[in-house]
Amino acid sequence: MDYIGHIFRPPSEAESLLLQVTVGCSHNDCTYCGMYRLPEQRFRLKPLDVITRDVEEAAAFSRDITPIRRVFLCDGDALVLPTNRLLEILALIRTQLPHVRRVGIYGDARTIARKDDLELAALREAGLGIVYHGAESGDDEVLRRIRKGSNAEDAVAAAGKLRRAGIRHSVMVMLGIGGNERSAEHAAATARLLTAMDPPFVGALTTTLVPGTPLADEADAGRFTLPDPWGLLAELRVLVADSRFTRCRFHSNHASNYVPLSLNLPTDRDGAVRTLDGLLGERDRARLRPEHRRGL
Ligand code: SF4
Repeated sequence: MDYIGHIFRPPSEAESLLLQVTVGCSHNDCTYCGMYRLPEQRFRLKPLDVITRDVEEAAAFSRDITPIRRVFLCDGDALVLPTNRLLEILALIRTQLPHVRRVGIYGDARTIARKDDLELAALREAGLGIVYHGAESGDDEVLRRIRKGSNAEDAVAAAGKLRRAGIRHSVMVMLGIGGNERSAEHAAATARLLTAMDPPFVGALTTTLVPGTPLADEADAGRFTLPDPWGLLAELRVLVADSRFTRCRFHSNHASNYVPLSLNLPTDRDGAVRTLDGLLGERDRARLRPEHRRGL
């Protein structure tokens, strides 16, 4: 397989074939993100003949060793690919990898906005099953500060488009991304955003200060302070207690988090809120994931 730079994927795509169709991220400006900062990760589309060779290699593996059932299209915001190119890639997967049941991709409010309803429906028809979207916060002031390139209204519009197209939507939000200063606003606005988006999957991650990123520099200069574990837990409590979902699988089991939850909401809401209130009341660090076991 032709891989350039570090390859990232959502935790739930651990078993998937990782097919790199773009390099880097077309935005590459979020202040907390250190994923695509190497020179060789400068954003570009990969040539179709390179992608075709990778799919053929995977097809041989799928035929001779074990069937490939899921594919994840990398890198950072691969949904930025022109729809025609994505349809060509999905057609390749369909013909060469007949056991594939789902294709996933990273996209965000900017890239989803560029596709109209007909394009998204065509992508769904061709096999695109799920879009992973880092919405991060519902607070427009936080989104401006972290240079997300989109606002809460854009994220709600993106959710509506994916729903109309029948493409599943997995939304990631970041605990602590507003810092101490906007922690309360961030949590409340993110719960409102998730309610408005009403996605079937939500993942809450804890903000990590990655050396070399603008956010880490802000922290070093004293202009950004990450909430302590109890502040982060209080944000998580607001998300669980105040978001209203039709039916959502809500995870906080990413390795960055202090308390891993895996919930069906709204069914599990009351129990989870009681658990979080208990932890916040006790403030016993022994009940949190120890720092050395947090995957940062
Ligand atoms: S859009 Fe995603 S991959 Fe690109 S800079 Fe922002 S967080 Fe990083």
